[in-house]
Amino acid sequence: MGRMPLQYDLHSHSIASDGTLSPVELVTAAHAAGVDVLALTDHDTLDGLVEAGQTARELGLQLVPGVEVSVSWQSQTIHILGLNVDPTCKTLQTGLESLREFRRWRAREMGRRLARTGIGGCYEGACALAKGNIVGRTHFAQHLVAAGHARSVREVFKRFLVNNKPGFVAGQWASLETVLDWIRGAGGMAVIAHPARYRMTASKLRRLIAEFRNGGGVGMEVVSGSHSRDNISAMAALCRNEKLLASCGSDYHGPENPWIKLGQLPTMPVGCQPVWESDRWPVQ
Ligand code: AMP
Ligand code: MN
Ligand code: MN
Ligand code: MN
Repeated sequence: MGRMPLQYDLHSHSIASDGTLSPVELVTAAHAAGVDVLALTDHDTLDGLVEAGQTARELGLQLVPGVEVSVSWQSQTIHILGLNVDPTCKTLQTGLESLREFRRWRAREMGRRLARTGIGGCYEGACALAKGNIVGRTHFAQHLVAAGHARSVREVFKRFLVNNKPGFVAGQWASLETVLDWIRGAGGMAVIAHPARYRMTASKLRRLIAEFRNGGGVGMEVVSGSHSRDNISAMAALCRNEKLLASCGSDYHGPENPWIKLGQLPTMPVGCQPVWESDRWPVQ
């Protein structure tokens, strides 16, 4: 009898960024859901990785040390995953710290802007939800729902937190080239996160991929919790044409979102070469 294929989930969040589970709880939940290989990829921080690694060793799950880095590209925010990064790499650590510095300023600025429209206390509310970790738009959204200003996180984003809305502050993240240097310097593999989410034209997406590849990027998410079936087919075709490696991840943020579950992902479309079958994937 053949061996069961391993179950990979290479994109997830803990309370170190905007997830709701602690790293221990996240890894425990992934293990219970049948995930064999999990990447913890918090936004702009490596803070959860030590704790996640310890729990993973105890449970016999393979933990891929990762990060989801915020990038400004052509006046748009995009997310680049670093998989198998060395969390002790100083260049990566310093680079991510500069993004968190911007996040700290942005959070106060979002609070000020929302206050100007008559909704006070949001900065404090978001900080309380972040529990000392980095404060993101998700925390503002959760606070605004709890305070009765909207019915759902999704609605808050639409009404308050996106371009041209009162709480929006434009991203001033790192350049694509810089972030690719950080990831490569830390021995990681760079992967474009949820490419179908950016609403780019096909030609713009190909321009992004060209620059990404020039900077040393190697993969893109084909299967993602935020991709529809149609998105998966389209991204699989693009991935094959561009000869990039294909990744799959839930983008799990916690049990509050009933649509996204750990490790319950569609299988990788035929013809895509998975990141874990590349020579560069570390053998565990
Ligand atoms: P930030 O990096 O702090 O700007 O926040 C980005 C995060 O907000 C994403 O990683 C998602 O977790 C969340 N997010 C973005 N857009 C939406 C949306 N429309 N509905 C719900 N969550 C969203
Ligand atoms: Mn997030
Ligand atoms: Mn993302
Ligand atoms: Mn994510």
